Amino acid sequence: MGVRRWDTVIVGASSAGLYTAYLLASSGQRVAVFEQHPNISPARRTLIITPHLRRVLPFPFDEAILHTTPIMAVAGPTARAEIHLVEADLIVERGALIRLLRDKAQGAGAEIILGHKLVGIEANGHRARLVFRDRKHNRQEVALASAIVGADGVFSDTARFTGIRRPPSVPILQAEIDLPSGWDPKRVQVWFDRSDTRFFYWLIPESERRGVLGLVADSDDDIRALLVRFLRKRNIEPLTFQGARVAMHDPRLRPWGRVGSAPVYLVGDAAGQVKVTTVGGSVTGFVGAQAAAEALIKGIPYAQTIKPLKRELDLHWWVRRLLDRLDNEGYDALIRGLTPRVRRFLETRTRDEMAGALWPVLLTTPSLWRVGPHLLRGWRPGPKPSSRWRDEYEVGSS
Ligand SMILES: Cc1cc2nc3c(=O)[nH]c(=O)nc-3n(C[C@H](O)[C@H](O)[C@H](O)COP(=O)(O)OP(=O)(O)OC[C@H]3O[C@@H](n4cnc5c(N)ncnc54)[C@H](O)[C@@H]3O)c2cc1C
Repeated sequence: MGVRRWDTVIVGASSAGLYTAYLLASSGQRVAVFEQHPNISPARRTLIITPHLRRVLPFPFDEAILHTTPIMAVAGPTARAEIHLVEADLIVERGALIRLLRDKAQGAGAEIILGHKLVGIEANGHRARLVFRDRKHNRQEVALASAIVGADGVFSDTARFTGIRRPPSVPILQAEIDLPSGWDPKRVQVWFDRSDTRFFYWLIPESERRGVLGLVADSDDDIRALLVRFLRKRNIEPLTFQGARVAMHDPRLRPWGRVGSAPVYLVGDAAGQVKVTTVGGSVTGFVGAQAAAEALIKGIPYAQTIKPLKRELDLHWWVRRLLDRLDNEGYDALIRGLTPRVRRFLETRTRDEMAGALWPVLLTTPSLWRVGPHLLRGWRPGPKPSSRWRDEYEVGSS
């Protein structure tokens, strides 16, 4: 390939990277996306995504939608509630969405270079010099870029090579299952059980007969045992598993840097653009991609274009801090406190559009004040990060 020059080099051809490439190439930039894998065929992953995505992506993505779910049911040990969403959640197959984004990026003129792993970045005059290992031919290739976008996921090498702090992460594991008999395929179920996880279990139907049942936890060590026990208790047979680590937003993250005079912007999981209440990173990763593209196209700071997303993500971070203090009785009190007004709010606002509106509703709902004492009783000094979590967090610290 020799040395090639680009306006922007994007590292990582998954959802956030390909969407950034589409936006930049559509604006006339010379863009390349480098992906370490030899093809774009990501492992199967069933995602639940808010319908806000229809307002974020500028093109239809119906071919990636498997199913829609208008009912969100939540359960504590003894309390239950159902939220009937005005706009149903979308159940999406990640591979189909990524293939669509690949076609859109290529159609806009972006070049996608597969089988190339980023192994180094250094300054080169006013450009950045990126070194990739061509895995097929086992040789190094160099790219010169006026800007870099790191869309290389939670273990971002772009962040590592440029001294930008990487986000913490948690493991997610979900089993593909046949829906239990009588299960309403329009209903997503969330279970809170503080003795197993500070997060939650879920069941997401992806068709009339199939679905995924999973959990988020703090440690890789026991997540599988917890999931298997949960499935066994309900006589549900796992067909296969989908799992990986997902980034967690932290308000202290600053997902940008510079190599020489070339700006470096992180997007998606690399930037910790994940709502930590639900651990959903798809829509927020696309919004982060839009903010990075806008900054590069208009020549304005990413710190500025990313502000509305940061506001949304920070809100979820504060809510997560409160949820982490709840015990099981606290979750029951929370669910019982969902008055018609709070339900109406949750039915009409998606989980990606809560900033500025959530606190006024929560603070003016007296039934939710009963959760207060549980916040104090359930307090504990936070989860102990696993050594892997600490390594990831510290290696990338600047
Ligand atoms: C099991 C599971 C279930 C989930 N469910 C949901 C859900 O229901 N809803 C939701 O919104 N979110 C969900 N998420 C989170 C969501 O999938 C992620 O937030 C999202 O996929 C992140 O996309 P990304 O483009 O930022 O990064 P990734 O998808 O992680 O892509 C990073 C890309 O960079 C490439 N790369 C890495 N290093 C290099 C390198 N050195 N050189 C070149 N290329 C490199 C990788 O190969 C990969 O292609 C789930 C995650 C998991 C694991």
